[in-house]
Amino acid sequence: MGTSLDRMDRRTLVVAIDGPSGSGKSTVARGVAARLGLRYLDTGAMYRAVTWLALDRGVQLDDPAALTTLAEAATLEVTTDPEQPAIVAAGTDVTAAVRGAEVTAAVSQVSAVAGVRDAMVRRQRELIGAGGIVVEGRDIGSTVAPEAAVKVYLDADATTRAQRRTAQDGGAATQAANTEVALRERDAADATRTASPLQKAPDAVVIDSSTMTIDEVVQAVLDRTAAVSA
Ligand code: C5P
Repeated sequence: MGTSLDRMDRRTLVVAIDGPSGSGKSTVARGVAARLGLRYLDTGAMYRAVTWLALDRGVQLDDPAALTTLAEAATLEVTTDPEQPAIVAAGTDVTAAVRGAEVTAAVSQVSAVAGVRDAMVRRQRELIGAGGIVVEGRDIGSTVAPEAAVKVYLDADATTRAQRRTAQDGGAATQAANTEVALRERDAADATRTASPLQKAPDAVVIDSSTMTIDEVVQAVLDRTAAVSA
């Protein structure tokens, strides 16, 4: 007899994973998508791609109208394969470039612009379509896909998140303190902005990954998915 995970309709399933920077969202979301044979959408990469375009074209970061026009007109091609996620902005593969320090330092300012968010949320909903996808971000369970069957808010303490981010970026342990300051600033900006801030949806399950391995967190999300589709 099959499990509830076998029985559920994966073609319409939406798994929303929100949380602050460095909580392990990307690794966990990709792991869950790979295990369930679902697509994977990294919405942060979309805000990063618009930020990359703004920096590339010299659009002023304190000009919401110009940023909105840029976001609405931008050609973004998003690959939703969890094994090889990629993003192409205006014909340039920016998958690696959007992870750079310049984009990271500027992205919260760009993502706080309501017009930018409207344009991205519209595209994200198109990409989600009928479902069959794991989506990670800051406002997925609350705004982008409030009807998602599974909503997870992934958290970890700030020091752990900074250490993970530093290790992910190949940096020395001594950099973690600087990373922690930058992470706290970015989280504060993301959580206090007016337009759909980082927040836990009321019906999201909170997983604190501070003392868990990636495999344990992936399993916890799979257990939650099995529970809601039982
Ligand atoms: O997830 P990641 O750290 O790549 O996201 C980069 C930035 O994009 C976040 O700090 C946040 O400002 C923005 N973001 C957002 N809403 C999302 C995903 C990301 O505002 N759904």
